[in-house]
Amino acid sequence: MIHLKTREEVELLRENNRLVSLTLAEVGKHIAPGVRTKELNAIAETFIRDHGAVPAFLGYNGFPATLCVSVNEQVVHGIPSDYRLKEGDVVSVDCGTIMKGFYGDSAYTFAVGEVAPRVAELLETTKKALQNGVAQAKAGNRVGDISAAVQNTAEAAGFTVVRELVGHGLGRNMHEEPEVPNNGVKGRGPLLQEGMVICIEPMINMGTRHVVFERDGWTVRTRDRKPSAHFEWAVAVTANGPDVLTDFTVIEVATRG
Ligand code: MG
Ligand code: MG
Repeated sequence: MIHLKTREEVELLRENNRLVSLTLAEVGKHIAPGVRTKELNAIAETFIRDHGAVPAFLGYNGFPATLCVSVNEQVVHGIPSDYRLKEGDVVSVDCGTIMKGFYGDSAYTFAVGEVAPRVAELLETTKKALQNGVAQAKAGNRVGDISAAVQNTAEAAGFTVVRELVGHGLGRNMHEEPEVPNNGVKGRGPLLQEGMVICIEPMINMGTRHVVFERDGWTVRTRDRKPSAHFEWAVAVTANGPDVLTDFTVIEVATRG
């Protein structure tokens, strides 16, 4: 079932997603060649706990870390490790919090130094796909309107959409109904209603759309090992349109140097 949120509950979700945004900004400040991905994880865990929240991913179905850190061909659910970032990498950082009984969940893909032009296009297109999807998150529309907007934006630029993983409702649980796929057909799927809070999270690949689930039980990577990008916003559906609970501005200000 779909849990509709009261205004007060939406504000608690906003607080959580604000903290996630600030955590991603803090992580972003430390992204540079030579940094180990597990160092980013430690920074995020300390930051979240210092702000009175609990890392939502740590222990979730046994996940061993605060962040999912997915580099280059890794799509999502990468486990922080001793890997040192290098110039030209792209790194998706997905972060969740629990505070006051509600969840935050957002993700951002960072470029490490200068990246190849087509890789920069992949990041820009994935962010644009997210924005175009979010623009459809208004009461009276259907989930398929979001999905189609994401898919069309990605495919128009020559990229492909991962099908195996989807966005979701967000509330007192990290994953609630409805599922929010990144591919679909306008006018199809569950009706969007005022009070729904959903995470829209395109995972867009440079090459094939197909993915492989690694034997670590978590990491999802592209089958052809070409790069992938992932951005995620939590959004409240209102009669007047989308109310975005995630704030990328703090991330982009923090990483502009
Ligand atoms: Mg996420
Ligand atoms: Mg999510």
